[in-house]
Amino acid sequence: MRIVAIRETPVPLQAAFANAVVSFAGHDVSLVAVESDVRRQGRPLTGIAFNSIGRFAQSGLLRDRFIPRILAADPDAILDAESGAPDPLRVRQAAMSGEKPGGHGDRAAAIAALELAVWDLRAKLADEPAWQTIARAFGREPQQAGAPVYAAGGYYGADADASALAEELRGYLDSGYRAVKVKIGGTSLAGDLARIEAALAVLDCPTRLAVDANARFDAGTAETWGLALDGYGLRWLEEMVDPLDYRGHARLAAGLQTPIATGENLFSRQDVVNLLEFGGMRAGRDLFQMDAGLSYGLGEYAAMLSEAEARGHDRSQMVPHGGHLINLHIVTALGLGGCEAYPRVFAPVGGFSPQCRMDDGRVRPGDAPGFGLEGKPELRPWIERVAP
Ligand code: MG
Repeated sequence: MRIVAIRETPVPLQAAFANAVVSFAGHDVSLVAVESDVRRQGRPLTGIAFNSIGRFAQSGLLRDRFIPRILAADPDAILDAESGAPDPLRVRQAAMSGEKPGGHGDRAAAIAALELAVWDLRAKLADEPAWQTIARAFGREPQQAGAPVYAAGGYYGADADASALAEELRGYLDSGYRAVKVKIGGTSLAGDLARIEAALAVLDCPTRLAVDANARFDAGTAETWGLALDGYGLRWLEEMVDPLDYRGHARLAAGLQTPIATGENLFSRQDVVNLLEFGGMRAGRDLFQMDAGLSYGLGEYAAMLSEAEARGHDRSQMVPHGGHLINLHIVTALGLGGCEAYPRVFAPVGGFSPQCRMDDGRVRPGDAPGFGLEGKPELRPWIERVAP
């Protein structure tokens, strides 16, 4: 098997709203296609993926460095001997040739898109959904009922007063979601407490509501807000401080009963080791939200998971950021604690597909080969650009 072409296109997100820090109006992602010389039904078998959501398209890094390195590699050296298919780790190593350690940043997302497209290609070669391919590769029994999900919403937009928020959350409950997350930190503490109380009036139970500050606060402000929120008994407090402020996380964890959640802006195994060693994360309570699509792909994600488990944390504490099909497959395959969902935001890559089934707060990915991204009608025109 040979990789014969790799294509990328930036895809704009439909996202006219903001969290406490970022307006998503100009955001995009890199959609990539890894085309092989295998043909099925008259078309080349092609792996498709993207670099999750939130770190922009990485067209330049892909075009100038990573794609040319893979295409220039010895074709046999990037295959795994057993299946003859491209090996995600070897493809990543070829792409990273000449790159220094550390300072992971945007290249971690660029590499992730390529690595995940190789997983999609491998699943399509085996003619099975990616959750089966991934579970087998990591020796896991997949969650047959799918992944527990929560609806991420409650952004700050033009109509984001408390009554609009309550209406939005009622819509998620009507769609089958049992838990939701809303943004905080985009207004005053009093304003956000009013939003939280409006949300709780809809949800009834505080453990169905998580809140996300998107790293808006310095450590002192985070403690003030954390203490004000702790009495509610919420599901979790997310990214209350800078992702790399391990001391700040440790102080929060030591002072609060509510679970804290972080990790979506950690892009390497070593960053997660630092969080585990110095961030005070509590086994069985706090949540880790690293995202394979932002952090070099599934191989690096699995290494992060191993580091957490080696320190007494459980994979049920792993709830990846990014409400899209790729992470739904990964959570289902690896038996993780849950998956973010974007029922109304970040189209065309956010959200699941019509083939996915929601039942009692869980979503089961479909059975189409690969990640099933071709089953998302709104994404199809973009896939046709990279896989004509
Ligand atoms: Mg978040």
